[in-house]
Order: sequence, then structure tokens, then C-alpha cells
Amino acid sequence: MILPGILSLALALSPQQPAGAWCTVSAADADVAAAAVAVVEAEVEPALARVRQAFPDLPKQPFRIVVHASESALPAALRPLHHEGSPGFALLGRSEIHLLLAEARATTGGLRPVLVHEMTHELLHQACAPWGDRIPRWFHEGLAQVVAGDTYLDASEEVIAWRAAMQQLLPFSELGDRFPTDPLQLRIAYAQSYSFVAWLEQRIGLPAVVAMARSVDGDRSLELALVLATNRSTADVFEEWRDHVVHGSGAVWRVVLRDFFALSMILAVPLLAMAMIRRMRADRLARDRLARDEAFGAAPEPMPEPDVLPEDDDVDGDAADDREDARVEETGDRPATDGKTLP
Ligand SMILES: [Zn+2]
Repeated sequence: MILPGILSLALALSPQQPAGAWCTVSAADADVAAAAVAVVEAEVEPALARVRQAFPDLPKQPFRIVVHASESALPAALRPLHHEGSPGFALLGRSEIHLLLAEARATTGGLRPVLVHEMTHELLHQACAPWGDRIPRWFHEGLAQVVAGDTYLDASEEVIAWRAAMQQLLPFSELGDRFPTDPLQLRIAYAQSYSFVAWLEQRIGLPAVVAMARSVDGDRSLELALVLATNRSTADVFEEWRDHVVHGSGAVWRVVLRDFFALSMILAVPLLAMAMIRRMRADRLARDRLARDEAFGAAPEPMPEPDVLPEDDDVDGDAADDREDARVEETGDRPATDGKTLP
């Protein structure tokens, strides 16, 4: 029988043994070259060493990695289990990790963070056995991204900053069993999960976060374990985290700076509109005045009454000098009375 065989192998191994003793790598089909399998095998040891920082006493059960050439090469039976765009997934009940080589290589961090991410799922499940199925999906994804030091689907706090400010985050209670299939909602789910667990890790430390999950059993849910670990109600914990995303993480300001040009254009619209309204009003006044003037036979502006005309300084009454004054006023270069030009 297969199961007793696996158990006897598990009992013979200790966590200190080489990663290869715990984790085997194989090609899913003939399209995956032996060289590609070897590349993944070379990453298993350092990836497992990273995951053991969170689970020093694990693994306690062997698991395997199946390498697929790409998402399009996945067998039909596995496709529903895969989130579009993600570079791998773990089948916890089967101790299997499925790696999509093309997608994994295309991530910013490359192969290793993807392996660390998927191994974290496997070891978290083993750590919480036999209650592994009680660990919510959001915690699994949050911890996997924190341990890997990299997010899936380019998720970041910037993705959720505005939603956090507008109280439009996805309820964690709806991310317990499965994640959304809509690409944007899926990205938000990964971003929220990462942000919350990363914040919790900063507050109580990674060992306490892992111990919290490992304390889950038939009577204690993760939500209750969270209350006991933080000494806060779940509502208070989530509100404190939301407040951190909005005010403490700097994510909102990073979004503002990143989108500065677009935002400045949006902010400039009311100013442009006001300037345009002012301009249109000035044009209308000018048009009305022109129409009024035409209606009165193109009469010029009525002359001011003589008693409001400026006083005539021309005491000598010389009309030619007056004309000279008018000309130099236009150039702004008024001759001095002694014939020289003033500075
Ligand atoms: Zn994951």
C-alpha cells in the first residue's frame, strides 16, 4: 500500500537531512527537458532552507514538485486548480507542488521565491496537521508571500491603498475557502493577504505568527488564535491594520507620487474650467459692447465730462509739444524737459 510506505519513509527522515530526501522534482511531460528539471532541483535546497526559517522542525512528510513547461501545458484536470497568471500552486492533500516554469521565470524574483512560496503552503499544512484545512486561504497566501519576500500577480499595498481609505477592501471572511476568479479582485485578494500578514509579522514577529497558526485545532479557529495572539478583538485588529495601510505604510503617498501627473491633470480641470468660463464671459461682454456700439451708430465710448478730464499741464499751450508728448508716451521714453532722456 502506498500510504504506510510514505509514513515509514517519513519516520526514517529528519528535517536536517538534505532537501533532496524530502522533495523530489519531476517533469510533468516530455516537453520539459531534463536540464529544466535540474535547474529546479538546484533551487530546492536554498528554497527549503528559507522556508525552514519559519518551520525549523519541518518537513515531516515528503512532497514532490512537478514541473510544467507553462500554463498552457497544464493537463485539463489541473486547470481549475490554477489561478490565472500565478506561476505555481500546491495541492495540499496530495503533497504536490505544480510549478509553471515559463511563468515562474518571468516573475521579477525568478524561480526561487516561487518555490519558497509554494513550499510555505506545503509546510504550513504539515505544521497544522491534522487541522491544516482549517487555515484560511488568506492566511496561507499572506504567509507564503511574506516568507518568499515577494508577492504574486504584482500585488502590493499600493493596489489596496485607496480601497482601504474608502472602506472597500474585500472582507477577509470571504477569502477563507477560495479566492475570487476575477483578475482584479484576485490581485486585491493577494495584496490584502500579503499586507495583513506582513503587518502582523512586524507587530508580533514571524515565530509568533507561525505559532498562532499552529495553535489552530478542532476548537480553535485562526480568528480566535489571532485574538489570543494580539489581545485584541478581530474587528480591532483588522481596523488597526487598515489604519496602518491608509496612514502608516506610506502606500497612499506612494500612489499619489506615482500617479502625480494623472492626478495633477484631474486637479487642474476645475482651474481650466474656471479660466474658460472667465474667458467666455469676457468675450460675451466684449460682444455685447460691440453690438451696443453698433446699435448707436458706432459711437465711441462717451467722452468723460470735462470736469473729470486730467488737468492740462501744458501751460505754454503748444499743440506740437502735445503731439510729441503723445508719441513718446507710446514708446515709454519720455524726453526730459531739457532735451535729454531720463534714465
Ligand atoms: Zn499561494
